[in-house]
Amino acid sequence: MRVVFIAALAACVFQGCTSDDRATGAADLLLANVVVISPGGVPSPRMDVIVENGRILSVEKSAPRRSGFARKTIDGSGKFLIPGLIDGHTHLNEVPGMNFEHERSYPDISSAARSQIPRSYLYHGFTTVVDLNSTPGVIEQWNSLAVRPQAYFCGASPVFDGYPMSWMPKPARYDIMPYFLFDESRSAEFPEGFDPSRHTPTAVVDRIRADGGICVKTHYERGFGGRGDLPVPTAALVKALVGAAHAKKLPLLMHANSESAQSFGVDTGIDAFAHGMWTWNDRLLTEIHTDIEEIVNQTIVRDIALQPTIQVLYGEQDIHNPDYLDDPRLKRVLPGGLIDWYRTDDGQWWRRRMLQVPIVSQLVEQGLWQELDAPPIARVSAVLEHFASNGGRLLFGSDTPSDPTFANPPGLNGRMEMDRWIAASVTPEQLFLAATVNNANFFGLGDEIGTIEAGKRADLLLLGENPLDSVSAYDTIEQVILRGVVLHRSSLAADAD
Ligand SMILES: [Zn+2]
Repeated sequence: MRVVFIAALAACVFQGCTSDDRATGAADLLLANVVVISPGGVPSPRMDVIVENGRILSVEKSAPRRSGFARKTIDGSGKFLIPGLIDGHTHLNEVPGMNFEHERSYPDISSAARSQIPRSYLYHGFTTVVDLNSTPGVIEQWNSLAVRPQAYFCGASPVFDGYPMSWMPKPARYDIMPYFLFDESRSAEFPEGFDPSRHTPTAVVDRIRADGGICVKTHYERGFGGRGDLPVPTAALVKALVGAAHAKKLPLLMHANSESAQSFGVDTGIDAFAHGMWTWNDRLLTEIHTDIEEIVNQTIVRDIALQPTIQVLYGEQDIHNPDYLDDPRLKRVLPGGLIDWYRTDDGQWWRRRMLQVPIVSQLVEQGLWQELDAPPIARVSAVLEHFASNGGRLLFGSDTPSDPTFANPPGLNGRMEMDRWIAASVTPEQLFLAATVNNANFFGLGDEIGTIEAGKRADLLLLGENPLDSVSAYDTIEQVILRGVVLHRSSLAADAD
């Protein structure tokens, strides 16, 4: 196809195109005269980007006008073309704010939401998503839709009965999280009917890889919300998991959001933290101090990447914000029926549960809902600032939805996460790199996506403003080009006509 096309292109350039040439050799798409912003290069004005068969065929300086040689031409004059964004931390098998019981009770609301969710990621420019805890069936189903970001998954390998399995009923938890790890020191508690030899680090990584996973995620979490007694993996077990993952060329992420967990992660040689550090050993402090800086510095020196996921904390806070459901941005990403349901008694279930925590109810009753999570927000922002200003490797991820909160809307949650980074002094360029090439390379997808180069998947965004100037440029997405197909942004909105 490429040879035919190049021959036709040469004929067009040198002899002028005939309609026959167009029928046999026309490219699918020409993005003409656009400023190309590809990570690793300087912005290049007046470029022509040609797309064929869902891939970028060429990126070249504005050639003599070749009108008619592409089936579709978009005039990119004065506009900016960037690679599609990658959200490296999602949970795709969930409707924010609903549990599976609610989905059964409200099947119409749930199915409208599930149809819209992939489009909402695209609406905000995310053409690739990574689910950090999934199984092949969920991902296949997602990728079978015509209009959706390309999804990939990590296999989640918590130590058996540790977080997050601990919240799930037995024995269903062992099916929901099939890649759990055996821990010899607790062998007496290992669930009956399961073979420990299938749950060693090597066996688990082999199964994740065979199932199509591109990464492994483990967890170091002793508990929260009144719990602090959950089992965590030993250092030896995590080091063995790192070795097994690296032998298969898979990166290992760790759920770790406390000082002790991140210190453990640094010592065991993991590849990325799936959260920022919002709990410190000295629970009264919110100003960064030397102990914290030392862990962050070690994270940078060992090239351990960081997903700050600050929106997790705002998602806990915002369910108590009386104006939250009136935010007009929600209508773009959530069906009206779902927003209405969030206002009902059933839709408020998670909010009510959170209000059972005394400090939460006290603050909310006094109208001080914004103080909820204010200390961890201050800590994680300070850590992010230190990490980013000292050259740490940032990975963009929104953790959508992080818990059953309705305040983690698909796509928009990522857009809000971007604002949190900028507020923490991350530069627009660092943010751009984190959401494109850094994620692509970390997850082993660098040959496919992450930059605008010939041969890569034609997942592109056409913007009215320059994202290296301001984060608000991401609000000026005009077209989402998905595997070469042009989708006008407004057609992806939940309230599109
Ligand atoms: Zn998560």
